[in-house]
Amino acid sequence: MDLHLYNSLTKTKELFVSQHKKTVTLYTCGPTVYNYAHIGNLRTYVFEDVLKRTLQFFGYSPLHGMNITDVGHMSDDGDEGEDKIEKGALREGKHPLAIAQKYEAVFFDDLHSLNIIPPQKVARATDTIPQQIEIIALLLEKNHAYITPQAIYFDTHSIDSYGALSGQAIDEKKIGAREDVVSDSEKKHPSDFALWFFLVGKHENHMLHWPSPWGEGFPGWHLECSAISRSLLGQPLDIHTGGIDHLGTHHPNEIAQSEAAYDLPLAHTWIHGAFLTVDEGRMGKSEGNALILKSVIEQGYDPLDLRYLFLTVHYRSPLSFSWDSLSAAQQAREHLVWFLSLIPLKKEKGEKGYKEQLTSYTDSFRSALGDDLNTPQALSVLWNALKNPLIPLHLRQRFISKHLDILGIPTRPTKKSLPFRVRSLAKKREKLRSNKQFIQADVLRKKIDALGYIVEDTPRGPYFSPHHGKHTDHKNTTSR
Ligand SMILES: [Zn+2]
Repeated sequence: MDLHLYNSLTKTKELFVSQHKKTVTLYTCGPTVYNYAHIGNLRTYVFEDVLKRTLQFFGYSPLHGMNITDVGHMSDDGDEGEDKIEKGALREGKHPLAIAQKYEAVFFDDLHSLNIIPPQKVARATDTIPQQIEIIALLLEKNHAYITPQAIYFDTHSIDSYGALSGQAIDEKKIGAREDVVSDSEKKHPSDFALWFFLVGKHENHMLHWPSPWGEGFPGWHLECSAISRSLLGQPLDIHTGGIDHLGTHHPNEIAQSEAAYDLPLAHTWIHGAFLTVDEGRMGKSEGNALILKSVIEQGYDPLDLRYLFLTVHYRSPLSFSWDSLSAAQQAREHLVWFLSLIPLKKEKGEKGYKEQLTSYTDSFRSALGDDLNTPQALSVLWNALKNPLIPLHLRQRFISKHLDILGIPTRPTKKSLPFRVRSLAKKREKLRSNKQFIQADVLRKKIDALGYIVEDTPRGPYFSPHHGKHTDHKNTTSR
């Protein structure tokens, strides 16, 4: 079965083919570490993790690189506004690098909580200044860039294909109209963007700066991704991803720089994750509705509940967040965990045709993920398997646990045998139930409960789950 992925560059679902057989170079734009990541940002990182796990599931070895933005990202994503890190430094009264260090650590903690596999290769913008300067030198040499007293700009009219990714005509791009911003009157076109800012005007007191052949200053945000992706993974990349908010400016700028400097495509496949919305609007820090992982945990949720919620919606569809939808995800995930903890009274045999059924579930799961990472479909395959009484419990559990793992929802193996006392009480209880002595059977159920096990009566006989001293919402009386 083949893996198909939607490529934003060609706007079609394509059969994925790697450049180097098994290895897949995967570059994902990393965080700007000036504040907590909100759960809309985290949705993108979960989608990228699902992509990575799917590549592994299809037999590839993804080689994953990511940048950490700790300088040069302006508050409007273009050249205007203020550097987000320096703004964070002012807010917290700390050095910009202390701010970056703090939020970088928080970011990796968030990834860990969401069971996201960290990239094998990570580089910070401030650690790759020489590589960025090398690209500027090449672009100036090839007349793709020009210098004004304020900055060095990429000349977007010097290439034919600027904006091909976003499908936006070059002259449609406007400069952010903000009152606090004084634009550079020597910038040739509104779509041109800064590669290097000099320490003049509003950047006169920029705290982070480096020498360059053209004067002291600091790099523009887009440049680091061109430099870092190339130095970590090479060019062209197999896959480059990011949030859909990068489709209009950041990614077209990365492409322009990398391709003009090195005469090679930056990446073959571009994949973008959709927004997370709240009350019909995009979630974002500037929108003032940003929710962070810590608040989700404080409300009593496991970060994996959030991961499960993300999986219930296809990554290219906007996800409208609500606490109700998170609660539903929590219930679903806890039900799966509970199902995996069940122990039957006696070892089960399968009914006729169960092997074919299991194979067909395995195929359906694979084809769901192979169809542009259709995680809602993949989850529904797991639920169908869970509810299928033809298949012995332990085989359903093995199937679900293995495939939840592929989706990055880890399941702990549970003890698979009942203590002797519970087993003998359970056998007596079965005898009483078959004689319709339900009241006496219920007395034994309570004894079993006191030994730490909840009984669930099913058409295949009683199943037991350890309750670790606390009662769950699951049925707690002998069914009649
Ligand atoms: Zn980037």
